[in-house]
Amino acid sequence: MSRVALVTGGSRGIGAAISVALKAAGYKVAANYAGNDEAAAAFNKETGIPVYKWNVADYEASKAGIAKVEADLGPVDVVVANAGITRDAPFHKMSPEQWQQVIDTNLTGVFNTVHPVWPGMRDRKFGRVIVISSVNGQKGQFAQVNYAATKAGDIGIVRSLAQEGARAGITANAVCPGYIATEMVMAVPEKVRESIIAQIPAGRLGEPEEIARCVAFLASDDAQFINGSTISANGAQFFG
Ligand code: NDP
Repeated sequence: MSRVALVTGGSRGIGAAISVALKAAGYKVAANYAGNDEAAAAFNKETGIPVYKWNVADYEASKAGIAKVEADLGPVDVVVANAGITRDAPFHKMSPEQWQQVIDTNLTGVFNTVHPVWPGMRDRKFGRVIVISSVNGQKGQFAQVNYAATKAGDIGIVRSLAQEGARAGITANAVCPGYIATEMVMAVPEKVRESIIAQIPAGRLGEPEEIARCVAFLASDDAQFINGSTISANGAQFFG
């Protein structure tokens, strides 16, 4: 029987690559998204992976969305909390709204995604929680006080969940991508992007598939003893 994997923000960018990699590895995959119906429909058409729309920042919507996934595909064995946003501004210009939106989506969104599937994982004595953090959560970043706070928070979440879940066969780990060639990164001005690439010893951006392969490994049975870890995949930009 194939396991069920849920990927939030699984219809675009890194999440889409994760959804595809998990499907290729034999999982029944559900890809959540927030509002870009066109991108989600195109992804569904191309991959055959079912897409589910809800806002991860909303607990009740997450609970209802996950209940629908479980009714359609079966209990979630692997949850990948990948959905994330940026609202960058230097701290002196950062508005409370910019702070709150990022906290709600990137940090509370992880709680909202994992909390509904956790009791089932405990009952079934198997689970994989994988949270997509960021190199900027490890090292901090100019104009990203909000984002870095959430991504550092992800590491605290998995280290705590790892201790709570270990006896129940559940692992919780974080993947910290460096700069990856997705719409999020391609949206920054070209000059800024060039200066970012100049700071990466590998001399290039990462590919979404390079992150997806880390996730597929962490989801596998081979990774059972890896718990509470942070895998950095950043082309030698930072050693965290
Ligand atoms: P993209 O902007 O390309 O895709 C984001 C995905 O998340 C989309 O599917 C989007 O849905 C979904 N999403 C956003 N907000 C919500 C929400 N409130 N509820 C549900 N889904 C939501 O992002 P990336 O692929 O670049 O990033 C994916 C993750 O990787 C993020 O957590 C990001 O912080 C992290 N990361 C990215 C790096 C990079 O260089 N790209 C580097 C390090 C970490 P929709 O299509 O409907 O908008």
